[in-house]
Amino acid sequence: MDKKQATAMIKSKAHELGFMFCGVSRAQKLETEARRLEDWLNKNRNGEMQWMENHFEKRIDPTKLVPGSKSVVSVAMNYFNGQNRQPADSPKISKYAYGRDYHKVLKKRLKQLFQFINEEIGEVEGRFFVDSAPVMDKAWAKRSGLGWQGKNTNLISPKVGSFFFLGELIIDLDLEYDGEIKDFCGTCTRCLDACPTGALNPERPYEIEANRCISYYTIELKGSLPDGLNDQFENWMFGCDICQDVCPWNRKSIPHDEPDFNPKSDLLEMTAADWQNLTKDVFDEIFAGSPVKRTGFDGLKRNIQYVAESTGARSDFKNS
Ligand code: SF4
Ligand code: SF4
Repeated sequence: MDKKQATAMIKSKAHELGFMFCGVSRAQKLETEARRLEDWLNKNRNGEMQWMENHFEKRIDPTKLVPGSKSVVSVAMNYFNGQNRQPADSPKISKYAYGRDYHKVLKKRLKQLFQFINEEIGEVEGRFFVDSAPVMDKAWAKRSGLGWQGKNTNLISPKVGSFFFLGELIIDLDLEYDGEIKDFCGTCTRCLDACPTGALNPERPYEIEANRCISYYTIELKGSLPDGLNDQFENWMFGCDICQDVCPWNRKSIPHDEPDFNPKSDLLEMTAADWQNLTKDVFDEIFAGSPVKRTGFDGLKRNIQYVAESTGARSDFKNS
């Protein structure tokens, strides 16, 4: 089978499996991205996320991660939940975490795609990844033409915006490669202007200070949250969608049709008072199999308390 036909079959199967987009790039060292990542790590932008410093060589070169690999197949799965939202005054959870843990959902589908290639195209060696190993998923999705990396550092599709998960297959099969698309951010600075903690800075577009991001504070940071930032959290208790919600390209978002990403109805009915009184039993019930488990019951309680202590006023902390 020639590579054009093999590539078309893989993309068609990916769509059949529920992936919104599928693109392919040559497995090779990410030279430019490697320099940027090194610089970013040297500035300690990763905060306590020490794991980002591990396996640097494998992170920037898929042929070191999967010896003999020739292609990186990038896939995207929609998680935009439309009007399925929490009550307006409840502490907020990032849209990606409303349903079942995406790692499980995407891995299962990628495994099926991998099996399909082996059965229908030919025996291949490789691995599949969903945030599970040192793979620069946005860089690969960008190279595969799934979108451009915006000033908020998210991958943005000109067709549907940025509310989607990414995953990759790295395999030793030669395929037809896609190219990058244009950056459509233009003169827009909405995400940079809206970021309440200064993790995005108008003077440094396309770069995130992850250690100042609400997602980092509410999910990754162990111990206490920083003094005096309560107002800046704008009631986000798990993750933050501000820089995506303000992005004009997300007006193109369309609701997903993946049952696994639907929230439990209890989650959408929880009021601010219910969150204040959250018990371990209710946490376990609402978040069974959810990404929110990552922060744990104690972590979420910490976050709920923190945003509840907000005075509702924003200080001048931003971009200080
Ligand atoms: S997720 Fe929120 S805090 Fe983080 S960069 Fe975006 S707007 Fe800023
Ligand atoms: S808000 Fe504007 S600048 Fe930011 S990612 Fe979207 S288009 Fe680009």
